[in-house]
Amino acid sequence: MDFVYNANPSRVIFGAGARARVGEELERLGIKRAIVLSTPDQSQLAAEIAKTIGGRAGIMYPGAVMHTPTEVTESALQAVSSVRADGCLAIGGGSTTGLSKAIAYRTDLPQLIVPTTFAGSEMTPILGQTEMGRKTTLSSPKVLPETVIYDPELTVTMPKFISGPSGLNAIAHSMEGLYARDRNPIISMMAEESIRALGVALPKLMDDPSNLEAHGDALYGAWFAGICLGSVGMAIHHKICHTLGGTLNLNHADVHALMLPYTAAYNREAAPEAMAAIARALKAHDGPRGLYALMKVCASKRSLKEMGVSEADLEKVADIAMENPYFNPRPVTREGIREMLQAAYEGREP
Ligand code: NAD
Repeated sequence: MDFVYNANPSRVIFGAGARARVGEELERLGIKRAIVLSTPDQSQLAAEIAKTIGGRAGIMYPGAVMHTPTEVTESALQAVSSVRADGCLAIGGGSTTGLSKAIAYRTDLPQLIVPTTFAGSEMTPILGQTEMGRKTTLSSPKVLPETVIYDPELTVTMPKFISGPSGLNAIAHSMEGLYARDRNPIISMMAEESIRALGVALPKLMDDPSNLEAHGDALYGAWFAGICLGSVGMAIHHKICHTLGGTLNLNHADVHALMLPYTAAYNREAAPEAMAAIARALKAHDGPRGLYALMKVCASKRSLKEMGVSEADLEKVADIAMENPYFNPRPVTREGIREMLQAAYEGREP
């Protein structure tokens, strides 16, 4: 027992229909004219919620896109100035939350986030942004949202090909929380509980995407997963997915979903306590195999080959993955990475 525990402060309101409390939560934050953020796809949902808060919806900005490009942030900042907006209301997934965080980073405006996926960004002080095609990440307390409203009625509209990978992406945050170098007992408890909740809920969502109770369980697991991501350091899984996604331009959540059992297997012997916690959470004999079974049911793409990756790409990714050293329970070697990528390429049980 030797640890530091540093809780990130945030207020969470959770429950089916909780979006009805957006107005009172804005009032609590002292927000009188919010900029209401969404993607173009979710502009109708944002407009419906805006209708319930009357004048507190200062201006609508349905222009959020993936990877938070700085040009979009600049244009949203002009909208902020045009009505002297005094806070952000973000309704959507990680991309919309990213735009809200980018505005808060530059203005220190308070944020109310209403997540509609399982990405977990709303619980972290981390902001990833893209400038001239290059993605950089920063961490700042200014970026951490003040209030989050989790309403499972809003995740129900996700199609299976988004909800399955999004949920496995959340499990990846929890898995790495279990073997983080700076892990602590609170985060480990949350991580195991998150994997348990998502492990039960995700297969139910694949059977019946309209199962509201399962959406509630998955969103609860995703909340804890976001806390893990925002509180302790991530390792090989997040690094290799970042490299694969960035180098080969693959879908963020699909890569996380597929790689989960393979990165777990990479650390199987080096992180026995974490693997035992995963096995307990999934009621499986072996953590990585339990994750493999879940991946087979919930991922949209079940091998790197199916994603259009070639064996030559694997060599390139293995080289790039070795460029910047980082902590991982098992030392990161090129040979080890290459073998892991081969197994994921073939989609075989790890
Ligand atoms: P997303 O926000 O890009 O959403 C994907 C698509 O799904 C969008 O078109 C969106 O409009 C749609 N969508 C969202 N919710 C929906 C719903 N309920 N019903 C129907 N359609 C819906 O995807 P995401 O996976 O939530 O977020 C990914 C982004 O978040 C990445 O850029 C990633 O880097 C970032 N992220 C950041 C952090 C962090 O801590 N900074 C954490 C996790 C993810």
